[in-house]
Amino acid sequence: MLRGRVRWKGQEYPAERTGSGTVLISGKGEVPLGEVCVLAPCLPSKIVCVGRNYREHAKELGNQMPERPLLFLKPPSSLLDPGGAIVLPSDSEQVEYEGEIAVVISRECRAIAETEDPMAYVLGVTALNDVTARDLQKLDVQFTRAKSFDTFCPVGPWIVPEFDLETLGVRTLLNGKQVQQGWARDMAFPIPDIVRFVSRVMTLKPGDLIATGTPAGVGRLSPGDVVSVDVAGVLLENTAKA
Ligand code: ZN
Repeated sequence: MLRGRVRWKGQEYPAERTGSGTVLISGKGEVPLGEVCVLAPCLPSKIVCVGRNYREHAKELGNQMPERPLLFLKPPSSLLDPGGAIVLPSDSEQVEYEGEIAVVISRECRAIAETEDPMAYVLGVTALNDVTARDLQKLDVQFTRAKSFDTFCPVGPWIVPEFDLETLGVRTLLNGKQVQQGWARDMAFPIPDIVRFVSRVMTLKPGDLIATGTPAGVGRLSPGDVVSVDVAGVLLENTAKA
């Protein structure tokens, strides 16, 4: 069952998407999908991102591959619900999409041992767009400003609990045309290793998101562009606006 969060009659609830076009709201029962507003599927205390996890993407930006996962953060204030508008800030002239597979943490963990399976702490995967002001990223030493504008982290709409790391992939479409495609199996640092690596740095809490890097094909967003990220059959769609 797909998991997420919805707004229904003015209140927010955890919810599950059934196979029959309805949403099961905890304590309320089944509601038609058309009666709810689908929200970002979790409330993370932090969004941890991995840079340069696909060789072809590192190459397109003229970067060397890192020897260990390169981590940075996006603030929870950058979260955007599925269907919400990505606001292109006037401070940047080059805002780009980055379609990514995001991992959602299920329970608190810290310093996951080598003998333990990091996937035991993963609730599922979802689609995430690591929207980036590329010009500011190049200008600043730190990634913070480039990655943190409000609306720069569209995520969802649903968390897929069952997936196969061998076939899991991500596809990005710009105005309906495919511009990115990548596979978890092609990552420089596989998803389980990333979860363990991050847990050695910071305590991971339920609902925390780890964005696992973007494949080649990043590109600019202009006002009116519709950008979609497809992960495990879950389609995240947002429109850019000035
Ligand atoms: Zn990214």
